[in-house]
Amino acid sequence: MSDNQLRLVWIYPDLLSTYGDQGNALVVERRARQRGLDVARLDVRSDQPIPTSGDIYLIGGGEDRPQRLAAERLRRDGHLHRAVENGAIVFSVCAGYQILGHEFINDLGQREPGLGLLDVVSVRGEGERCVGDVLADIDPQLGLPQLTGFENHQGVTHLGPTARPFARVTIGKGNGTGDGTEGAYNGTVFGTYMHGPVLARNPLIADLLLKLALDVNALPPIDDRWYEALRNERIAAAQQPA
Ligand code: GLN
Repeated sequence: MSDNQLRLVWIYPDLLSTYGDQGNALVVERRARQRGLDVARLDVRSDQPIPTSGDIYLIGGGEDRPQRLAAERLRRDGHLHRAVENGAIVFSVCAGYQILGHEFINDLGQREPGLGLLDVVSVRGEGERCVGDVLADIDPQLGLPQLTGFENHQGVTHLGPTARPFARVTIGKGNGTGDGTEGAYNGTVFGTYMHGPVLARNPLIADLLLKLALDVNALPPIDDRWYEALRNERIAAAQQPA
């Protein structure tokens, strides 16, 4: 971060923003402002270049065709790689997560190269779509409470050796590989299948992104009553028998 200003980049709202994933940008922005930070939020449409000077980049989910278009444009643009090399934080959801991997199956049934920022490969699941509420335990190294989210994807994501599972599901499918893993991360690059929006349901993940951006171990506490109410409601809903 420079000039005490947090630069928050929301990538391709015109292509990747299903299930209110835009809420992730709102939550990060608000929680940064509540800590007195000056926030410059940049919503970068798919016909615009990705800035390399962002601190936190957010990417949402999307349907199969917009997902392919987004991958093509991000590859051509190339700037997200540079931003990560500069230490930027990237938090991606569903289609955005698949795009950060080495490859995924596109809407034409072909293998589409991703950005290779996460050591994961996504294929098309042979079974039913993974749809529903999810509960998962986040990697204890990250020091975060239970993950709650909503998933809706056909893709199944396999982790390579340098990707750590972000979480392990207790309810739901997550990566869909049958091994219970959900999402992946490596350093400052994160991927999850969770919508919700996931940062509204799990505001301490937003705080983790802020702590990484600010290079601090703790942030001033804020009143999380409303988030807690939402979390508790969704956790109870996930636990209802199907
Ligand atoms: N198109 C991808 C899939 O079905 C991602 C879906 C999404 O982002 N919700 O796997």
